[in-house]
Amino acid sequence: GALPGWDDVESLLHGAYERSAAATDGVVADYIPILAAVDPDLFGICVAEVDGGVHAVGDAVHEFSIQSISKAFTYALVCQEIGHEVVGVRIGVNNTGLAFNSVVALELNDGHPMNPMVNAGAIATTALVPGVTPTAKWEFVQDGLSRFAGRRLTLDVTVYESEAATNLRNRGIAQLLESYGRLDVDPLDAVDVYTKQCSLRVNTRDLAIMGATLADGGVNPVTGERVVDESICRDTLSVLAATGFYERSGEWLFEIGVPGKSGVSGGIVTIAPGKAGLATFSPRLDSAGNSVRGQRATAYLSRTLGLNVFASG
Ligand code: GLN
Repeated sequence: GALPGWDDVESLLHGAYERSAAATDGVVADYIPILAAVDPDLFGICVAEVDGGVHAVGDAVHEFSIQSISKAFTYALVCQEIGHEVVGVRIGVNNTGLAFNSVVALELNDGHPMNPMVNAGAIATTALVPGVTPTAKWEFVQDGLSRFAGRRLTLDVTVYESEAATNLRNRGIAQLLESYGRLDVDPLDAVDVYTKQCSLRVNTRDLAIMGATLADGGVNPVTGERVVDESICRDTLSVLAATGFYERSGEWLFEIGVPGKSGVSGGIVTIAPGKAGLATFSPRLDSAGNSVRGQRATAYLSRTLGLNVFASG
């Protein structure tokens, strides 16, 4: 079934906000220098139902860079274009059990990136985006993520320049992929498109609608546009369930029971299939790079809205 009635969802959203706002543990990411400048107390929650209704509380329209949440949507778009079989062979669907920016996982697996939600797999996925030039690939990503959001998403140039100037590790990962023969394009070009992808500006409303599009079998519930096929949503959600929170993916699935994806700027998108997309933004992160308040608020909402896909009743 769908979510509870409108007023119930509104009050549960406020309840999630109030119960989670007190949490001030965790730290803001600073390995991308500009991210350290964020106000750590910002906190917003948004829920977009598959019928197009949108609920919001707190700093729900504050904009931030999408970061790793973009990986889920680029993966869906690439599967739509070239098929999940090819992507499955080249990128994989298994958890690495290691941090998102690990090079160890690559070294242990003959350079195979293992899944599209860690940096190695995401850079390799972005390299598979259609387009002969890096500009064409970037436009494909920007257009596609914008269709998921239902509005034109733009590049946060300050975030892009801050990350591009300091992303030695991602450049190293891409060159390692190339050394194993796992990239068909120039590694630094692939990292550059990936860095732009991570620097797209969104708010929790955008993320909730992007999530709701995956929850709705690929049709954006606000614009009515089909973005990807239903089967692509199913594939993407399976991958997120296994890998969306890196080495903490098991704990997330155990606690919350629906697929989701985090990003290092503090966003989380959660997808309740057939029901809704949920998004939270709060910049303080746990040691795996997942928003502390976002996890709490989402756990509360999953319980009270009855979202856990493993619950029989
Ligand atoms: N752009 C960031 C990076 O590549 C994304 C990481 C994240 O959100 N976990 O390091």
